[in-house]
Amino acid sequence: MGMRLFSSNNRPVHLGPYPLERLQRQAQMPDLNAVPAMRPISFRRPEVPESIVNAMGEYEAMLDAIHYGLVNKATAEIPADPEERAHHIKAFGYFCDAAMLGICALPDAAFLDEPVTNPDVARLAHDLRTRQTKTLASGIDVIMADLKESMEAPPTTIETHTHVIVFLYENPRNPDKAEPGSDWLDDALAQRACLRANETATVIANYIRLLGFDAKAHSGSASDVDLNRLAVSAGLATAEDGALVVPYIGPRFGLAAITCAFELAPDAPLAPAAQQPWFKTRGPAWWLGMGFAKSALNGDPYAKRRFVDGPLPFERLKRVDTPTTYIDEAHVARVPKRTDMFARAQFGDMGKANQVNATGGHYARKSAPSSAQRRALGAFVLLQDGPANPNGPRPSDAERNAANVKAASYFLGVDAVGLSRCPEWTWYSHDAAGAVLDPPHDQAISMIIGQGYETMEGASGDDWISVAQSMRAYLRFSLLGGVIAKQIRNQGYTAKAHTVLDGEVLQPPLLLLSGLGEVSRIGEVILNPYLGPRLKSGVVTTDMPLAHDKPIEFGLQNFCENCNKCARECPSGTITAGPKLMFNGYEIWKSDSQRCATYRITTPGGAMCGRCMKTCPWNLEGLFAEAPFRWAASNIPAAAPLLAKLDDLVGNGGLNDTRAGTAQDPHPSTKDRPSETSR
Ligand code: SF4
Ligand code: SF4
Repeated sequence: MGMRLFSSNNRPVHLGPYPLERLQRQAQMPDLNAVPAMRPISFRRPEVPESIVNAMGEYEAMLDAIHYGLVNKATAEIPADPEERAHHIKAFGYFCDAAMLGICALPDAAFLDEPVTNPDVARLAHDLRTRQTKTLASGIDVIMADLKESMEAPPTTIETHTHVIVFLYENPRNPDKAEPGSDWLDDALAQRACLRANETATVIANYIRLLGFDAKAHSGSASDVDLNRLAVSAGLATAEDGALVVPYIGPRFGLAAITCAFELAPDAPLAPAAQQPWFKTRGPAWWLGMGFAKSALNGDPYAKRRFVDGPLPFERLKRVDTPTTYIDEAHVARVPKRTDMFARAQFGDMGKANQVNATGGHYARKSAPSSAQRRALGAFVLLQDGPANPNGPRPSDAERNAANVKAASYFLGVDAVGLSRCPEWTWYSHDAAGAVLDPPHDQAISMIIGQGYETMEGASGDDWISVAQSMRAYLRFSLLGGVIAKQIRNQGYTAKAHTVLDGEVLQPPLLLLSGLGEVSRIGEVILNPYLGPRLKSGVVTTDMPLAHDKPIEFGLQNFCENCNKCARECPSGTITAGPKLMFNGYEIWKSDSQRCATYRITTPGGAMCGRCMKTCPWNLEGLFAEAPFRWAASNIPAAAPLLAKLDDLVGNGGLNDTRAGTAQDPHPSTKDRPSETSR
């Protein structure tokens, strides 16, 4: 894990993780004819069937299929100041994990003589027009209707577009052919960054259209514009001796862009590399990461780690044979998918207010960023399952398969992966259509996507950020977990990605079995020692033979016994302040999940909720200075009460300034009402 010495907590989000503000810029636009021409990126590699590029191709094509759409006829009330708009758009891009963003006016020289087209788009566009989904997810009908309408709309041009937003995604090092888990990863870096950049460009283009302005995303595989020229125009790169050079990152990057009819303040182009002041850009501040997230020491989390091990030091954790939560496997009752709280809300089982807010996915769509994210989420539902390739090689070495699955997941950008059996009791009894579910797979690949410390700090936990934070992580799993499922199907086994919009397994027990965390007081939230509860999970199930991980133990059961902070801070009184008890075969802190779902669905001053995640003492920034907390919390049981109190004393997890004490604040005095948490 890349070590960080300094916090970037006070850095404005729109500046991003790299210190771009330290770079020398120039007023004059460089000669764009001197920029090396963009090379289209192909995702077709049939001659190498084991390559992950083939699996990525399906998802890249889906993003290219939905890179444009209908523009909202109502224009949103947004800032008129182009500078302020640019800050908002950049903050959204960095929230989606772009390494760098730049903005420029759309130059004539950027138009390609021949647009780059993705040969797989037509097939997927046909699927979007014609296929039905089988899921209870609220709002899926709205998403699919929008996609269908967009596919049937007449072709458009970008001639009216005036501005460009360029997204740059960095890559890790090249996988070494000798390292375990590298069987699928040869020569896939360009496609990796292209796909990740495309995800963000597609979402934010949709966001701008939702605001009422025309916008279209362009990727390395489908574009009307030369992305290299745009990177230079937008001040992200310079052309040096015929090559494109990006400060701090070098050649490890991929690009995507949005062209739009949406006025934004442009960035000035960069001065040539030779004119960049060394001390300011490559000196001690850059090496130590003083005030920004990325530095010379942590730019690539895999610089000194194997992909198979991931970015987080799981090797330091204690492994145990059984989870720290007792599970009476013989008595865990399987339940129908229809009992899912969000499904029940939609069907009216939880009262009128829940039903109104769940209809059409209103609780998520009422926030424009998450509404934009859900369009791609809906489209990916069509890809998350499918038949196995009958000609696949069906590799049977469970250890090797496990290494390949893990290394590929980490290579793509998953934060943590664990492998386990997938017992029958983790499956719903009936699927969304009410049919009896006969578990098709006995192997599970559990994945964690972190939700970002900085974002959590900028939110109260139950304002308008929470839902976008959730959807960002759900979308990332749908994309990356979906690619892994497709990759396994390409190898000849069946596999399904269980996403937020269409899943058939209960994820918490699988996360426990696979060693990704322990059960916390929050109830169904599994807490990870490095990310705390600030995460979303997803699971891929398969019949591919896999070697398994063991559960972990890091002292959380004792810590939660001595800490009630989440129970105290929960605005709905969902979380118990009492002891663990047996429920449906699990020994857990039983939270009132209906209360939580009701609050998340109906909250009027925001959308959804993650306040428990924000207030938990394990919600750490990942700094070197925080290591002693983690060590003491894991190794000295008697220190837990003191550490929990200390977290309060230093003011962690408080409401953000804009939220605290405002009329919107639904729980201004939560600290004074412990009775609500004991229910
Ligand atoms: Fe919010 Fe639910 Fe957590 Fe309570 S338990 S803080 S309502 S997400
Ligand atoms: Fe456990 Fe405290 Fe975190 Fe709640 S806030 S999950 S009790 S450590």
